[in-house]
Amino acid sequence: MAIPTAELHVHLEGTLEPELIYQLAERNRVELPWAGIEDLRTRYDFTGLQHFLDLYYANMAVLRTEEDFADLTRAYLARAVRAGVRHTELFLDLQAHTGRGVPAEVVLRGVDDALGASEAEYGVSSGLIITLLRHLPGEAATEALREALEVDVRLLGVGLCSAETGSARPFREAFELAAAHGLHRVAHAGEEGPAANVTEVLDVLGAERVDHGIRALEDDAVVERLAAGRVPLTMCPLSNVRLQVVGSLDAYPLRELTDRGVLVTLNSDDPAYFGGYVDDVYRETAAALGLGTQELAALARNSMEASFVSEVRRAELVAEVDAWEAGLREA
Ligand SMILES: [Zn+2]
Repeated sequence: MAIPTAELHVHLEGTLEPELIYQLAERNRVELPWAGIEDLRTRYDFTGLQHFLDLYYANMAVLRTEEDFADLTRAYLARAVRAGVRHTELFLDLQAHTGRGVPAEVVLRGVDDALGASEAEYGVSSGLIITLLRHLPGEAATEALREALEVDVRLLGVGLCSAETGSARPFREAFELAAAHGLHRVAHAGEEGPAANVTEVLDVLGAERVDHGIRALEDDAVVERLAAGRVPLTMCPLSNVRLQVVGSLDAYPLRELTDRGVLVTLNSDDPAYFGGYVDDVYRETAAALGLGTQELAALARNSMEASFVSEVRRAELVAEVDAWEAGLREA
């Protein structure tokens, strides 16, 4: 049985599998530039973040209707359930769709419908985080968030993602707007960018969690700050290896961070592109680093501690990890 976990760093668009890309292309009569699914798969050998992002955004062209977004969300949820996910805080790159003419309402209603149904069907609780795109201007982010807030769907938070270039300062206004609406705040930082970017999203955007944050290790003061404030890192080992942020999984600095008191969680990021869903991430990281049952259970409990859920829901989630661990001890 897969370890019960809360997934806190997964981009909905990053769960778009080649098979679904082709199905949606056919349904929407979108011409794809590849010779077929296998040809598309050969392009998943990435040299870095930008190389990946180019393909990631290109593939989204097949997502057009509310039904498309609902189908994509359902496909993710069905796979996530098998991966042991009991709670998910899903990232949505809204501007990647509004920017090519798909209205925010179409995107948000499709995703929200599927998430609502999953709570009833699978017992997986969920929240939606609008991840604003850092490679676009700050005003565009604020505008996208305003549009999202006008749609009658549940939003959990706001995030910042995409190419980690330039300052996060232009996004301060959007994050202040989010806070004023009671939304949680998270941000990608310290993935390809330096440790100073981690400090910046804490200070300027009021981020409550840092997505990736692996390069915090380059500055002891940043590591100490994360540990002292119990600021969670949503780490994505398979993504970091695929995008050459770290050389190999054996060299992943997970223990270095946990030993120094940082609250680390394991996540998939863009599972359709980086070779695995969160169960694969736990299994492969455990194998590479020699993590035992206790360490895996501790990581799963970290994911619950880092979740934006009620204390009641958190206790339920932690009890599932306790039961999983007890079950393994008996076996
Ligand atoms: Zn990410």
